Amino acid sequence: MNNFVFYSPTEFVFGKDTEMQVGALAHKYGARKVMIVYGGGSVVRSGLLDRVKKSLQESGVGYCEFGGIQPNPVDTKVYEGIEICRREQVDMMLPVGGGSVIDTAKAIAAGVPYAGDFWDFFIGRAKVSRALKVAVVLTIPAAGSEGSGNSVITKVDTLQKLSLRVPELLRPVFSIMNPELTYTLPPFQTACGVADMMVHIMERYFTNTQDVEISDRLCEGTLTAIIKEAYRLKQNPEDYGARANIMWCGTIAHNGTCGVGCEEDWASHFLEHEISAIYDVTHGAGLSVVVPAWMTFAAEHHPKKVAQFASRIFGIPESEDLEEMALAGVARLKHFFRYLGLPVNFKELGIEHPDIDRLAENLHRNKGEFVGNYVKLTKENSKEIYRLAL
Ligand code: NAP
Ligand code: FE
Repeated sequence: MNNFVFYSPTEFVFGKDTEMQVGALAHKYGARKVMIVYGGGSVVRSGLLDRVKKSLQESGVGYCEFGGIQPNPVDTKVYEGIEICRREQVDMMLPVGGGSVIDTAKAIAAGVPYAGDFWDFFIGRAKVSRALKVAVVLTIPAAGSEGSGNSVITKVDTLQKLSLRVPELLRPVFSIMNPELTYTLPPFQTACGVADMMVHIMERYFTNTQDVEISDRLCEGTLTAIIKEAYRLKQNPEDYGARANIMWCGTIAHNGTCGVGCEEDWASHFLEHEISAIYDVTHGAGLSVVVPAWMTFAAEHHPKKVAQFASRIFGIPESEDLEEMALAGVARLKHFFRYLGLPVNFKELGIEHPDIDRLAENLHRNKGEFVGNYVKLTKENSKEIYRLAL
């Protein structure tokens, strides 16, 4: 196990009706005026936005509103939000929604006190040294942004989808998680969330770091729970217990717990970000296409952990032939994704003829000569993985 620092100060307030505490919590964390950030309208239709505003009013916390954030959030909304926050003297960001809304709020939080262009942080030209506080009301278990210090934003001009990681400043101070709020999710969005949280765990599980038994077992336990509860949810989307388990799994998957002490991989996410940057597909659906392809590649080149995954997650019998074991695990994973209604190749994702050269060029221009750690991918390797997803 490697040395690590794990700093995860978020207060999670979980369960039925917890959104009614948002005003009291914002007040407790010193907010005088928050910016409520939301997406394309699901929180308006469900009445959640009104409940949040009422709770803020009751606690004497001021607010302004900033809606219209789209999935695969873009830099233009961040610039707009930064201007409004400065004008309105906002001191806390309050995203009410999923990863797209939360990530936009985090980028605004970093951008408000910075004199330069917030994009500097995403391209490594500047470091975040100050940020507004971020607090969350979560409506979709998926990205894990409610417990992470990450933000992923797409630059419209260049179609670069890049991530920023600042756990010490961008982790939410509190996150409100009411599983009942997720009943209104379309089954496809629920499934995409399941894929995303599974891959957040797998990016940590596929590591070359030795002596990571605790991490392995946390990853395997959480993955097993996700699969079990996703089956339950498919049967009954209003099963509170299944919704609650899936929601907490999404946080555990990405708040760092599963991967401390490990060298993480992240190649599948980076391969996917190039797809959603160009083709604007849902992140989780992009991942259900990329991950089986990445695992198929890894089965040939470095099967050890993929075979362990196959055995411990899907019960594939132990064998001398690790590649064969690994591939049997990939087949089971694809079957599971298909059961949830997810695509497992480009065609099913709606992309008949992906521009593989462009995807790989962009990936290695953004991320350098080698991508990932479990297997270090060259540009040719990346092209091969994209081809395996055809
Ligand atoms: P999302 O993009 O925030 O939302 C997806 C869709 O679900 C939206 O159309 C939204 O509609 C709808 N929705 C959300 N909650 C709903 C509810 N309760 N009922 C009905 N519809 C609802 O989803 P996400 O998967 O959480 O976020 C994806 C983004 O996060 C991607 O850009 C991905 O790359 C990024 N990501 C970030 C991290 C991180 O650590 N920061 C990690 C992985 C991925 P409305 O817009 O109408 O609300
Ligand atoms: Fe993700």
